[in-house]
Amino acid sequence: MVTEEKINEIPDPSTLKRSAGSGKRAAARVISELCTGCRICVQTCPSKCIRIVESALNFNGIAEVDERCTGCNICAIDCPWTGVVMINPDGSRKSEAEYERQLKRLRGYQ
Ligand code: SF4
Ligand code: SF4
Repeated sequence: MVTEEKINEIPDPSTLKRSAGSGKRAAARVISELCTGCRICVQTCPSKCIRIVESALNFNGIAEVDERCTGCNICAIDCPWTGVVMINPDGSRKSEAEYERQLKRLRGYQ
């Protein structure tokens, strides 16, 4: 089972390469242990910056985010397995309450 402590062990987001201009925004981070490789985020990411890579954790592979991530939250909203968290530039986790507000704005429901 993946604990909250495990989730909080996410690597320093500064290790994520950021494209110019996006350094002040959060960036998506896939939690490998939660990702099922379902590809939903690959389909919904507006920046097309998520791909599935091979992993010993999962025969479907797991999602990987590249440097084009704009921090839009869509993958974190859409992942059915809570396999994506958004990491602020200061290393803190973006509040999931923000995703819920965004979801309501985008789709009219929570
Ligand atoms: S939607 Fe979630 S579980 Fe599915 S591939 Fe993306 S991160 Fe993994
Ligand atoms: S936060 Fe937005 S741009 Fe970044 S990986 Fe997720 S869907 Fe793509």
